[in-house]
Amino acid sequence: MLCGKFFGGRNILCYKLRMLRQVTRLVTIAFFASLAACGTVSTSGVKNTSKTFNTVVVDAGHGGKDSGAYRRYGPAEKMIALDVAQRLNRKLRESQLKTVMTRNSDVFIELNDRVAIENSQKNAVFVSIHFNDSRKRRVRGFETYYHSGASFNLASQIQSKLMTIPNSSNGGVHKANFRVLRLATCPAVLVECGYLSNRSEASKTRDWEYRELLADRIADAIVEQRFGSGVYKASARLAAETQPQPSTGGTGLTPGTGRR
Ligand SMILES: [Zn+2]
Repeated sequence: MLCGKFFGGRNILCYKLRMLRQVTRLVTIAFFASLAACGTVSTSGVKNTSKTFNTVVVDAGHGGKDSGAYRRYGPAEKMIALDVAQRLNRKLRESQLKTVMTRNSDVFIELNDRVAIENSQKNAVFVSIHFNDSRKRRVRGFETYYHSGASFNLASQIQSKLMTIPNSSNGGVHKANFRVLRLATCPAVLVECGYLSNRSEASKTRDWEYRELLADRIADAIVEQRFGSGVYKASARLAAETQPQPSTGGTGLTPGTGRR
């Protein structure tokens, strides 16, 4: 519309713009042709359900023969990941979200089977719970990973909620090629809830109240991503009023009474 309004040489300008449009059209055609030729590109196959999802696939990392990270300061990664995942699962259900757990006991699940579970849900997001490991014992902090652009907001939301935990250290939000993220057809994130190789972070994970706090912040982030701010706190208060608190016995990882 602005073409040629102000310039004497408008015909040249219009010609150049026309050429540009034609080139753009050709590039677009070539782009879609290449897509058709090589099948579905993984990132383009992601359905952005980050504002509409009604289901959360909760994935506890590792399990069974795969212990994950293991350090003398705390229990094996597979055990605490499961415990945090179970706590997260309960909190999400209390917030009226449907959940699917990839495992609910100490069993080994192949990565491809986890991917199949996450992609079998129609309107979901996927959240994988892990703990980290490093040869450098000083390394600490929360890290959240994503792959598709549709997953970035959820990843950032989780990371910033975890950072509200006192004395936490920010390892950042990163793009990664993990299979459960790369092959997901829904928004998918993987949370590293601290380093088991770090004395301070690992010993905190022995405490059920700390694991409850981790689950609480992740649930808060997921609910805020879906329903907006303030909704999680309201539902958490309601759940606390209507349900008996889990017993505080010990630092064991076995689920408290009345928990799924
Ligand atoms: Zn792990």
